[in-house]
Amino acid sequence: MNYAYLHPRDEITLTLARIYHYKMTTTSGGNLSIMDENGDIWITPARLDKGNLKAEDIVCVKPDGTVVGSHPPSSEFPFHKSVYEARPDIKAVVHAHPIALVAFSISKKLPDTKIIPQAFRWNGAVGFAAYGIPGSQDLGDKIAAKFAEGFDSVILESHGVCCGGSSLQDAFQRFETLELCCKTQIKGSMLGEPKSLSDQQLQLESKSGTGLDSFEYDPSMMSIKEKDLRNQLCRFVERGYRQRLLTGTIGTFSVRLDENSFLITPRPLDRFSMLPEEVVMVRKGKREMTKTPSHGVLAHQAIYHAHPEINCVINASPVNALAFSVCHQEIDTRTLPECYIFLREVRVLPFETTFNNYEELVARLSPRNPAVVFENNGVMVVGSDLLATFDRLEVLECAAEAILNSLPIGGHVPMDAKVIEDICEAFNLEK
Ligand SMILES: [Zn+2]
Repeated sequence: MNYAYLHPRDEITLTLARIYHYKMTTTSGGNLSIMDENGDIWITPARLDKGNLKAEDIVCVKPDGTVVGSHPPSSEFPFHKSVYEARPDIKAVVHAHPIALVAFSISKKLPDTKIIPQAFRWNGAVGFAAYGIPGSQDLGDKIAAKFAEGFDSVILESHGVCCGGSSLQDAFQRFETLELCCKTQIKGSMLGEPKSLSDQQLQLESKSGTGLDSFEYDPSMMSIKEKDLRNQLCRFVERGYRQRLLTGTIGTFSVRLDENSFLITPRPLDRFSMLPEEVVMVRKGKREMTKTPSHGVLAHQAIYHAHPEINCVINASPVNALAFSVCHQEIDTRTLPECYIFLREVRVLPFETTFNNYEELVARLSPRNPAVVFENNGVMVVGSDLLATFDRLEVLECAAEAILNSLPIGGHVPMDAKVIEDICEAFNLEK
């Protein structure tokens, strides 16, 4: 969906519902605003139930202070206004109290955005504003001073977070990616020591292009199979988002159409609302004209070339598996029989593998070993179709979460070699 076509009232309502329903704020906390081309600020109203907000509840505050609407504006209006005054390039502000960011806020610490490339790309370094009484101009001044220094995301001491953007979608994606980063750093710290990427590695991620030529695509020639797969791909991406296996900005899905072609998620993309016509076809090494495939396209292409039995590839960064990824730790699959049968051994590969070492990738990722963890770059799973591959991703994330949850009660005890041998024999698994 293209949010640029939405009226600020609708965009704010839709985005707030997304924040509330994914437990990134409480009923009373959080407010969003957009400044339009007339200098009018559209903002969420004060004291209304965030779970049931309607477009007509959104308030418009004119530059002269006149309020248009049936409610008073959010009590935090002063700091929204101060941010717009400090940074004319900012046209939308997201403020909320998501749990992991609040943990940093009350610990008076800053997250390390260099543990996840997308978190760094969206947020850079994060600012920290000293405590101010909620709703006060003092708080507005303290937050605005940090934005004036150039920060786009600022943690508010003993309060929450404030993210700015060139649009509400821009601010929201920044906010959601930062919350994932904070959750990952907290979970990773239970497991070991989250490691930062070097500047060189961060550049590698931001520079990765596809380099693919394009071909003229004729939608009238689309087969029933292609229509089916485009729609399936959208449904699974949306399901992945709803299950929190993806965020709006992280995650690549592809599915093989035939020997020479596959369908892949585009970029830029909001994984919350992908449409079949946005999916990109890659045929004989060329991309569908006018569209850009996800960053991982060359890695996915290499896997399809090397393994004819593989028909689906997914990159994702669900938070528990991501905790292992940023700590460079393997995910032990000897937890449950199902886990070992579906995933076998889940090894760690260097960060660079998906960018420039496809030989290593196709040697390590195969029908025999269908899941890998990348250092600081999430996980990749492969399978015979979308459902089987998606299921593997869910099993992998459940295994990671179960291991993390076992840590405070003494850690997991892996199934021993004899049990694994019996499983291999009973389920006819290749050794
Ligand atoms: Zn607040």
